[in-house]
Amino acid sequence: MNTEHFWMPFTANRQFKQKPRLLESANGMHYTSSDGRKILDGTAGLWCVNAVHNHPKIVAAIEKQARTMDYAPCFQMGHPLAFEAASKLAAMAPSGLNRVFFCNDGSEGVDTALKIALAYHKIRGDAGRYRLIGRERGYHGVGFGGISVGGIAGNRKQFGAALAGVDHLPHPLNIEKNGFSKGLPEHGVELADALEQRLLALHDPSTVAAVIVEPIQGSTGVILPPPGYLKKLRETCSKYGILLIFDEVITGFGRLGSPFAADYFGVVPDMIVCAKGLTNAAVPMGAVIASESIYNTFMQASPENQIELFHGYTYSAHPLACAAAIATLDVYVEENLFDRAAKLSDFFEQSAHQLRDLPNVKDIRNLGLVCGIELHGQSHKTCTRAYEIFEKCFWEKDVLIRTTGDIIALSPPLIINEEQIAQLFGRIGEAIQEQAKS
Ligand code: PMP
Repeated sequence: MNTEHFWMPFTANRQFKQKPRLLESANGMHYTSSDGRKILDGTAGLWCVNAVHNHPKIVAAIEKQARTMDYAPCFQMGHPLAFEAASKLAAMAPSGLNRVFFCNDGSEGVDTALKIALAYHKIRGDAGRYRLIGRERGYHGVGFGGISVGGIAGNRKQFGAALAGVDHLPHPLNIEKNGFSKGLPEHGVELADALEQRLLALHDPSTVAAVIVEPIQGSTGVILPPPGYLKKLRETCSKYGILLIFDEVITGFGRLGSPFAADYFGVVPDMIVCAKGLTNAAVPMGAVIASESIYNTFMQASPENQIELFHGYTYSAHPLACAAAIATLDVYVEENLFDRAAKLSDFFEQSAHQLRDLPNVKDIRNLGLVCGIELHGQSHKTCTRAYEIFEKCFWEKDVLIRTTGDIIALSPPLIINEEQIAQLFGRIGEAIQEQAKS
């Protein structure tokens, strides 16, 4: 196979191409690798296949739509599935969030939400609100807006200047105080005060348009908020007229045992960005779910603004994606998958924390069906690189895991059963032990 031409994203291309890891088919909880091995999917692909691989209902919906109408524009036109998909998504979202703007992935969703926030203030005559606030270690995709509010310098520094006027709150990870917490960590709620402190000390609050956070920081290693933290952010945003955006690209669609993390935490933002699980990843799709009041602000804007929002994508509400989303949202409800995830989360937690005493394990963090296992970094005398565990898991243990820095991240499809959870952590544990000896 010629591996020269595909420039792979977020990949060490030269290293990868020496010994490519290839997945050729998928079914249920497993992938099949190009050398014919069944690989247990510990990461739902890339945190996105929440239901099951190749779900027959989703596959059938996409096939049917491909035969009926391949594509239709949604600029000054529409098609029924777009409205149906939006209604279904709105019905699943927290109350008050019920206007859906479709895009193609999480990155577009983030940039869309940021643009809506900026335009919203402008339309209300509050154009001085241009600042955006994210968090250190936040991941919000790879658009220019997303890398600016994102708190990962590595994703920014190759690309010159990021958006101006962006600030980052501290992230709430504190292993010294909260190491090996089960569920939400006890300490650190006061870190949410950083928002108000910065608003008053550094920025005039009337210049801030929006705060964007992932309720759980997924991509940078499963960083959980202490109880009350998100509520405080909500209160501060409301106090100063700032919009709060939850980036639920990972936490949406049952990862925590509820439709959205907003439900789990009992905190309703002004907008939710979602993608991934929206179509069970079978067709790319993202969405911003905005509050009715944001939408109404645009609709009631001065009549000379006939187009309310100057933003959209050729593939906004693509018919195949809408068909996949409708079928996927039905599957979640019909198969009760979010409750299933909630019920499994105790067993998942116990199984995860059984790795606690293995060599090199520095911290384990979990909530719902998501878990981060942090290993000691390079400075530690017994350091094992998480990437080595990833390779060993793939080639020798037939398990797909994900790593970010020194952290192993897990987020299996919600249909995983107890036996597979035990297998997943058992095999990762073996890999950690064997690697420590080698
Ligand atoms: N936001 C979050 C929280 C994410 O985890 C991701 C992707 N992992 C994105 C945005 C970007 O999504 P995409 O890769 O679909 O553009």
